Amino acid sequence: LFADVELAAPVVVFQLTADYNADNADKKINLGVGAYRTDEGEPWVLPVVRSVEAQMAIDPALNHEYLPILGLPSFRELATQLILGKDSRAILENRAGGVQSISGTGALRLAAEFLYRYYNKREKSTPVYVSSPTWGNQTAVFKNAGFTDMRTYRYWDAEDRCLDYKGMLEDMLNAPEYSIFIFHGCAHNPTGVDPTHEQWQGIAKACKERNIFPVLDCAYQGFASGDPDVDAYSARMFVDLGFEVLICQSFAKNFGLYNERVGNLTMVMHDAPTLSRCKSQVELIIRAMYSNPPHHGARVVASTLANPAFKQEWLDNLHTMSSRIKEMRQLLHSKLRAKGTPGNWDHIINQIGMFSFTGLNASQVQYLKKRHIYLLSSGRINMCGLTTSNMEYFVDNVHDAVTN
Ligand code: PMP
Repeated sequence: LFADVELAAPVVVFQLTADYNADNADKKINLGVGAYRTDEGEPWVLPVVRSVEAQMAIDPALNHEYLPILGLPSFRELATQLILGKDSRAILENRAGGVQSISGTGALRLAAEFLYRYYNKREKSTPVYVSSPTWGNQTAVFKNAGFTDMRTYRYWDAEDRCLDYKGMLEDMLNAPEYSIFIFHGCAHNPTGVDPTHEQWQGIAKACKERNIFPVLDCAYQGFASGDPDVDAYSARMFVDLGFEVLICQSFAKNFGLYNERVGNLTMVMHDAPTLSRCKSQVELIIRAMYSNPPHHGARVVASTLANPAFKQEWLDNLHTMSSRIKEMRQLLHSKLRAKGTPGNWDHIINQIGMFSFTGLNASQVQYLKKRHIYLLSSGRINMCGLTTSNMEYFVDNVHDAVTN
């Protein structure tokens, strides 16, 4: 029955971690997977998460009953407020609402499934545009939901190592009307380059002109600037300008809750009745897909955001993470410069968020792998994989890779 099933290619970023784990070298560095690491190179459970979990452990009111299909109500409300702002007009007008999802990927999956079934009079040939480059799963998720016309829009200017804003706008203005565009809300993965506020306004204008539907993938709110309000600029801008929009939030990175799979799909519609109808359809999608979401991560996030003291502690924890990344950017930049490694490395300090698109090419990446340094062949590195103790080793090897 299954004799003709072909072996699928491994998922690159997970394979990289497996290769890293299997490597017995004393000195080795994993710059692949997008997870925060301390300066000791260890995973970090946020102290605020530890405190909330300690409280949960002794709370007699907690049980393992099913959550509602759409998820934990307090979590959905607080997550929606976090991205749109408490005083968002859309929230006050009851036309913005959240749906708990299986982390950011699950939010994208729900968005894709909902759009495939109901967007634009159920037009199945709607083109879906992702940035070039992007986090590859966006394409896979939308394809799996049924979309067949996946396209890319220009984003990265490889020569100047910055945003190709002109190219991006051209591609938007040339897109068929009512196309769907997926934007990274902040801290673009993999380039670490975001549009400025002014450029976002230009992007919104192009969306209006072509009736483009924006989907915002927000996996790093708070991780870029250290301030979740600042990182919510693009989402709030679209809502303030009157767009209907789907926003996919992940709490994997900003709460360090990677394996708890906690996310939220914020739906913003023109009016309250439309939101109710759309949410009722998402409810049916979820019911048939996984019935209802898990509790733990949502409870941690909701308990944190609902309590001013915990929320402040979370903001401090976020700041710890984003500052360490910024410090590693500075250190990498200054060490490469001090060593005289050929090339202009200013993009390392200009980029933001967890990742840096180094500009290292595939053969340089291969070279580094032989020195037990693991990164994606695109040259993307997770800045958190660098520490004050392994920086020297990394810089020496980058220097050799570039000069060899
Ligand atoms: N979108 C982007 C751009 C991402 O980088 C990630 C994480 N790698 C996600 C969504 C979703 O991640 P998760 O499902 O773990 O929340």
